[in-house]
Amino acid sequence: MDEWTTPGETVRDATRDGEYRQALDAAYRHALHWLDSVAERPVRPEIDVDGVLAGLRQDLPDEGDDAASVVEELAAESAPGLMAIGSPRFYGFVMGGTYPAALAADWLVSAWDQNTGSRQPTPATAAVEEVAARWLLDVLGLPPQSGVGFVTGATSASLSCLIVARDAMLRAHGADPLAGMQRGPQLRFLAGDAVHTSVVLAGRLAGLGAPITVGADFEGRIDVDGLARALAEGDGPAIVALQAGDVHSGAFDDFAAAIEVARAAGAWVHVDGAFGLWASASPRLRHLVRGMSDADSWATDAHKTLNVPYDCGVAIVRDEAAMTASLGAHAAYLPAVANISDPYDRVPELSRRARGVPVWAALRALGRQGVIGLVDGLADAATGLAQGFRAVPGLEVLNDVVFTQVCLATRSDSDTAALGEWLRAEGTVWASSSTWRGRAVVRFAVSNHGTDAEAVRRTVDAVARGAATLGIAG
Ligand SMILES: *Cc1c(COP(=O)(O)O)cnc(C)c1O
Repeated sequence: MDEWTTPGETVRDATRDGEYRQALDAAYRHALHWLDSVAERPVRPEIDVDGVLAGLRQDLPDEGDDAASVVEELAAESAPGLMAIGSPRFYGFVMGGTYPAALAADWLVSAWDQNTGSRQPTPATAAVEEVAARWLLDVLGLPPQSGVGFVTGATSASLSCLIVARDAMLRAHGADPLAGMQRGPQLRFLAGDAVHTSVVLAGRLAGLGAPITVGADFEGRIDVDGLARALAEGDGPAIVALQAGDVHSGAFDDFAAAIEVARAAGAWVHVDGAFGLWASASPRLRHLVRGMSDADSWATDAHKTLNVPYDCGVAIVRDEAAMTASLGAHAAYLPAVANISDPYDRVPELSRRARGVPVWAALRALGRQGVIGLVDGLADAATGLAQGFRAVPGLEVLNDVVFTQVCLATRSDSDTAALGEWLRAEGTVWASSSTWRGRAVVRFAVSNHGTDAEAVRRTVDAVARGAATLGIAG
């Protein structure tokens, strides 16, 4: 130790051993306290952002503090403002919980702090991610040679894929992507009008502009004849975005038919399957995604259905060479091996945490049968919720519940809005209020591995209590 210190310097704790240990001990204690309580505490936070801000020190203090007391302060001030997203009765947005193996692996990812951009300096995490990628392609039924990039979520996954699509379509039409879009042919970007907002954003970020929208049916499935007509109306390169899992209805596009139409027009097909892609893993539900593996690129999340901690999305491109051509980085100081792509060649960033490692851990802990059980379990819970809601006078389920999404409504929009507010305030469950097909809905998205028959029963109970309290009648 001495050779690393200069004379006269005060050495507080040269290895910082004690400080890491105390800080991590505090974090461990608070983490277990949270996890032990998450299933039974009110799902909603006790206070709002202003309430949390009122407790937080506002000015940056002149003097710092030791690590353990910083962790204590963080835990104490945050506790009342935490949402129990890990609760089996949390149905908001589309958010998964966390499996123990994935959470623990995520802790190691932080402790190891491996910047997993390049294979050579970080061989362990790069290798674990390569296995995770192969396992993902396997359970999702996608082409085994596809390129896989671990990104922050499905939005950045769609962005990554659309950038690759843009460049590939320019190249296919004799243009040089390096010249940008200014000198290339006009690109067309098409999607159904139930397209998720993240795909619209991704298209804009990729320079494609807002999509030309094609009609969709009540459940949100793209009108395939309309797609054929829209493609026939113009010529030149086209990119078509399809959807596995509508965020309200859970519906799936007719991939076999839509991809055939897109192929005939020479278009690139991208699939947003943030949660819906996982239907592929289940023999019972696989029919929903028939033909989907014929697309060119896919975006999905691991932090939703697979229940790994935030943030973890996955960009998948059939033609790995096209992926690395668009997203690859090159510099004299970046070690690279010919013919093997590095992690940073498949994502739009150079530095990042090894977020594929928790994916490996979740899949390793589940095994193939466990993944099937997970996906079937989420869908069963959604079916159970829909059946339970339909049995309560005055309540209806608006969507065809084919996967994990349930849109609950009453006869009047104001009653529906009031029911949503009542539920979130009461605390047994948390579900999102939204508008769908012109009507107010309370949307239940089943994404947590812990949402079992008991959770479903208690959820239906709470909804029935809310309807009774509010005088909602049939
Ligand atoms: C959640 C979601 C997205 C966006 O995913 P993020 O991980 O939040 O970026 C995209 N599409 C659908 C259908 C989603 O449900």
